[in-house]
Amino acid sequence: MEKQKIIGSEEWCSFEKLQIPAIKARIDSGAKTSSIQASNIKRVVRQGVAWVDFEVNPVQDNRSVTVHCSAKIVDTRNIKSSSGNTQKRYVIRTPMNIGGQTFEIELTLANRDSMEYRMLLGREAMDNRFLVDPSKNFLAGDYDDPTFHDFYKHLYQEKSGLRIALLATNPNLYSNKRLIEAAEARGHEIQFLNIQYCYMRLDAQTPEVRYRGGKILQNVDAVIPRIRPSMTFYGCALLRQFDSLGTYCLNSSSAITESRDKLFSSQLFSKNGIQIPVTGFAKSPLETKDLIDMVGGSPLIIKLLESTQGKGVVSAETNKAAESVINAFKSLQANILVQEFIKEAEGKDIRCFVVDGKVVASIMRVAPKGEFRSNIHQGGTAHTVKITGEERRLAIKASKILNLDVAGVDIIRSNKGPLLLEVNSSPGLEGIENATGKDIANAIIMAIEKKLKYVLKD
Ligand code: ADP
Repeated sequence: MEKQKIIGSEEWCSFEKLQIPAIKARIDSGAKTSSIQASNIKRVVRQGVAWVDFEVNPVQDNRSVTVHCSAKIVDTRNIKSSSGNTQKRYVIRTPMNIGGQTFEIELTLANRDSMEYRMLLGREAMDNRFLVDPSKNFLAGDYDDPTFHDFYKHLYQEKSGLRIALLATNPNLYSNKRLIEAAEARGHEIQFLNIQYCYMRLDAQTPEVRYRGGKILQNVDAVIPRIRPSMTFYGCALLRQFDSLGTYCLNSSSAITESRDKLFSSQLFSKNGIQIPVTGFAKSPLETKDLIDMVGGSPLIIKLLESTQGKGVVSAETNKAAESVINAFKSLQANILVQEFIKEAEGKDIRCFVVDGKVVASIMRVAPKGEFRSNIHQGGTAHTVKITGEERRLAIKASKILNLDVAGVDIIRSNKGPLLLEVNSSPGLEGIENATGKDIANAIIMAIEKKLKYVLKD
């Protein structure tokens, strides 16, 4: 018997045919078939033969380095993931190299993020070739960072790009990390600015924005604001300052402020003929009864004006319950909207991600059982959805009315047609990129390039 080579629990694999010179694989003898994380998986028929086009991000923790791959489909299988969900996956067959040995393996294309590693090497591929020593790593050879980086150098643009600042609070949030990597992958210089570390000098001659330690922030071409609600006042003041320095702000200070005022934006929508659920607002508790009648009676929805992520949204089943909730909020001096309840939506709503006047991705968010709020932060789920032309137009019009270059537009499907729920000026990327597999961060950076008439150099 030929002597079997020993490999560790992590090894580098390469796929010449797929133009993937190195990808880190977890050796998983618990799985039968090997799998690779892929996105934008599309079945195509070429000369009567079924192929699959897909994208692989071979660099761990970086989604902007993308290899475009194509292979014949050899099978379609239902695969149970480690989390217990069953996924229908395409299977391809391709030569793989590990530690100098090349052989054909079957590989299922896993929708990305269903697994921690970009690749899992199952026992089928190891049969009679390797033994695994799980206490070791990279027994078949290792790369240092610069060598690995060199493999994908051609997929990074040369740095001659724009100077972009990301104005936010937490650089480790998914959306912020994605924007940074997308800007870098397109050859731009991007710096993270913590809103709280910025300060301003105001005068007619030399207005400035300074950063902790006294650094003057100069020559910033564009600012991407990702201002959390509690930072709106200061963050928007900083944006105005950048604007007065001639820096382009992706979403202006006034657009953000207006979109965050639910009452004001609802008024703008109704003024501009945008369909919204019937909404009421009153200052005095004496008007509560008529307020309830006015929006069609119970069941209805009561929303705190300051609510985000559905936290300040409650439903009231009866007029009596509605009355007590409304009056309780009022006694606490809270500003609330009262709104007709769109029962037929069954806890679903649609999030359209609008960048530069186009819907670049949309998902349907589904509430957990027994809930009416489709909140993915609280156990709801999300999946891709094909929106209608009317919904698309509604999303685009709403972001235009609020003057937002980037917007998350929430729409609810009612018997009267699509209704606008709200528009978010700092929409998160995680849920929608994961559900759709789209590179939205890249679309955002491209919108800045377009606005600044920046042409990518070859
Ligand atoms: P927030 O700004 O706090 O996220 P939303 O207005 O977006 O609040 O509401 C949160 C969720 O509650 C929505 O995603 C939707 O699923 C549900 N919802 C909101 N308004 C209504 C309504 N009028 N009828 C039915 N469901 C609603």
